[in-house]
Amino acid sequence: MALFGKPKYTIVRLKKKEIPDGLWTKCEECSEVLYNKTLEENLKVCPKCNYHFTLTAYERIETILDKDTFQEYDKDMVSADPIEFKGPKTYKEKLAQDQAATGLKDAVITGEGLINGLNVVLAVTDSRFIMGSMGSVVGEKITRVIENATKSRRPVIIVSGSGGGARMYEGMYSLMQMAKTCAALARHHDEKLLFISVLTNPTMAGVMASFAGIGDVILAEPKALIGFTGPRVIEQTIRQKLPPGFQRSEFLLEHGMIDMIVHRKNLKDTLTKTIDYLNHA
Ligand SMILES: [Zn+2]
Repeated sequence: MALFGKPKYTIVRLKKKEIPDGLWTKCEECSEVLYNKTLEENLKVCPKCNYHFTLTAYERIETILDKDTFQEYDKDMVSADPIEFKGPKTYKEKLAQDQAATGLKDAVITGEGLINGLNVVLAVTDSRFIMGSMGSVVGEKITRVIENATKSRRPVIIVSGSGGGARMYEGMYSLMQMAKTCAALARHHDEKLLFISVLTNPTMAGVMASFAGIGDVILAEPKALIGFTGPRVIEQTIRQKLPPGFQRSEFLLEHGMIDMIVHRKNLKDTLTKTIDYLNHA
């Protein structure tokens, strides 16, 4: 009897190229496996359950503004290290790491452009960069863009996505940005000019407690987490279970904190109608 007979099974070797990476994404809400191209065509919204995936700042700008009308401001502004923060990572290391990972200099992109022909200035935070938290650069760029809008008498739109709020790496300098951005918005308001705040998942802490929370009109994406302190910390502190859906857009709409929930595919039209209506009011 042959010791080395024919094997009873066949080894199937998959060529690496047969299943390329990055073709499919699993929906975080309903676990549906989605073809990336379909997902992108659907503005990164799950076609099955309507889960809104996070957009980068530039992707967001592309979905809102008319093609090729965006002009960016203060593109090269970078952060200093005012308190010489040292933790598991220094602030300088963290900045370098997130700059390399995102291709951004900091967590906000600002500029001007057209929305269905209407001239606006806008700021969009990017939650990939230190959780979209507000340090001096974010605060300064947002303040400048608001001041520009006030001076040129244009509406300002800020799309927020920040799980981080204030940026602890900058200590007090970060907290000062809350007052600074709000003061600029107050001056904008005094001139009877419009500010639309768009809240995306997540908008929390020092960002929600400053500029994001004080829009003349506040829009939010479906099911976005919006609040000050995260639900887990609140539950631990008050030792009570929070009601279902607490701090989600739908809950906040019901309780009067926001004005409207807007599906991503309708955001550009809703912004246009709001600006156009108030232009004629
Ligand atoms: Zn889904």
